[in-house]
Parts: sequence; structure tokens; C-alpha cells
Amino acid sequence: MSSSRTNIIGLKVHCNACEKEFPIGKQKQTLLHKSQPIVCLGCKVELMMSAAEKERLLGFGNPLKYMMLASMISGLMGVILFGGYLLGYLKSEAFVLVAVVVTLGSNLVLGPKIKNASAPLMVNLDPKSATMTASAAP
Ligand SMILES: [Zn+2]
Repeated sequence: MSSSRTNIIGLKVHCNACEKEFPIGKQKQTLLHKSQPIVCLGCKVELMMSAAEKERLLGFGNPLKYMMLASMISGLMGVILFGGYLLGYLKSEAFVLVAVVVTLGSNLVLGPKIKNASAPLMVNLDPKSATMTASAAP
């Protein structure tokens, strides 16, 4: 297993105890993969990922990775074009227009795309105590 699998951009968790949803970063994702608890931002209870949710998580892939990259590159292009104009390397105001169009356009296109792609990236977590009781029960 490569470690990049444990870092899904835009991953959110849903707390089954208080129904709060919150995003988690690489560190917490790694903890969950190691079957270690993370603390809920809402009710402060320790949450664990069940085997079924772990399985589901592995099927997510990382759909946002390339979209984030594309959005970064277009943002960078805009900065370079605009910076070039400000520094006097680019004399034409058309370049500024291009920079604005590229930056705004990519944000308009990629923004909703990133939002849509990240919407299903959510795992349901049970409180640690509940999963322990459940596994102890016959
Ligand atoms: Zn909670």
C-alpha cells in the first residue's frame, strides 16, 4: 500500500454520535487507516472507522488531486501574466485581460467541479465505545 492512498483531498467524516460533518487532513486519515481513533470536532468523542467504511474509502480514489493541480496551475499562470504586466515585461493590456479571464474562468469551471467531486467523499464514523460494544455483542 502506498502512503498516498491515505491522503484523499477533500475527505470529510460524518460523526454518527452528533451528526456533525467535518473535513480531515492527512494525519487523521492515516490514524483511521491504522484503526486508531480521531476526536470528533463536535462532541469530542473518539471516533473509529469500521471495516466496511474502510473498504468504501479505498474505492474513493483521489478525484480531486488533478483538479486541485489544474486550479493551481491556472492560478499561477494568472499571477505570472499579471505580474509580468506590473513589472513592465508585458506592455499589452490584453495580457492582463487574458490573465483575468484565465483565473476567473478556471475558478468558475473548477470550483463547482471540485465541490461536486468532493461531495461523496465522506465516511461515517462510529464512537469508539459503540463499536466496542457492538463487537462484544453476539
Ligand atoms: Zn460527534
